[in-house]
Amino acid sequence: QAKALGRNTYQFYTEAMDAESRRRATIASALRKALERDELRLVFQPRLSLIDGRITGVEALLRWCSAELGEIPPTTFVPLAEESGQILRIGEWVLREACAALARWRQHGLTDIAMAVNVSVLQLLRGNLPEVIAEILQETGVPASRLELEVTESMVMANAAQSTAALHALRKIGVSLAIDDFGTGYSSLIYLKRLPIDTLKIDKEFVGDITHDPDDEAITATVITMAHSLGLNVIAEGVETEDQLAYLREQGCDEIQGFWLSKPLDAQRCMAFVHTWQPSTIAAVPPPY
Ligand code: C2E
Ligand code: MG
Ligand code: MG
Ligand code: MG
Repeated sequence: QAKALGRNTYQFYTEAMDAESRRRATIASALRKALERDELRLVFQPRLSLIDGRITGVEALLRWCSAELGEIPPTTFVPLAEESGQILRIGEWVLREACAALARWRQHGLTDIAMAVNVSVLQLLRGNLPEVIAEILQETGVPASRLELEVTESMVMANAAQSTAALHALRKIGVSLAIDDFGTGYSSLIYLKRLPIDTLKIDKEFVGDITHDPDDEAITATVITMAHSLGLNVIAEGVETEDQLAYLREQGCDEIQGFWLSKPLDAQRCMAFVHTWQPSTIAAVPPPY
């Protein structure tokens, strides 16, 4: 009987795995047509300086509404696009679209905000990213200093030597560089010190628990101190509550991003949000004692 049960369990898992890989194949093939069919779009999430209460920039986040499959989240399709290499084409579209949006906002007077774009390590390692970006900046008239590229810690550390070289090449053209999802990978401090980066973004997993979990509180405080001692700017992502905000401010975190400030918005709404934001709004948040 145990044997039969074992076989059934095995069969169950195999079928579940088949269904999962079929779904992934379906998504990957629909994704191949997404660009041509105009199914991709960007939304933008603002971030805030805790030092002066200003909006310092926005992060471009990719959305895909497939005609066949409906809305698919980037956490599902970005890894598939990386596996198939499609992220190269899609990533270039994202960079061009994000810079074009920023160029329009700049014409409306928003000249001191930065555009952050997530870049896959595949784009980073392909070699011609600096040329592609230089061309896009020229086309759109966005200054290099207003573009920030975010690469995830785990991806960079998995290819540390090559990534370091690629980041140096990007640095040369004047863009800013941020390590995303910091705390989820296993950075060696030696590498971190060698990376030509400007910013660390603390992963939302830690931020989400800072007011309940002493470990996450300690990790967050330590990352802030460490980043500052390396001369880096620190952004906390996933800030949802006033308590989290107050704690981060007390710890000296430079900037925050998250639902507390705003969800990701379409270009029009995001521009309006930045235009109407009053730095004094932030002063109303009380300290955590
Ligand atoms: P990420 O770069 O770390 O982006 C932050 C994610 O957290 C976004 O999810 C954002 O919507 C979400 N978020 C923001 N504030 C909060 C909050 O207060 N609470 C919670 N729970 N979540 C919050 P999203 O848009 O689903 O993107 C997920 C990931 O997909 C991104 O993580 C990034 O790694 C990847 N991604 C998104 N767009 C692109 C892209 O254009 N290129 C590449 N290579 N990756 C992208
Ligand atoms: Mg990011
Ligand atoms: Mg992140
Ligand atoms: Mg936790």
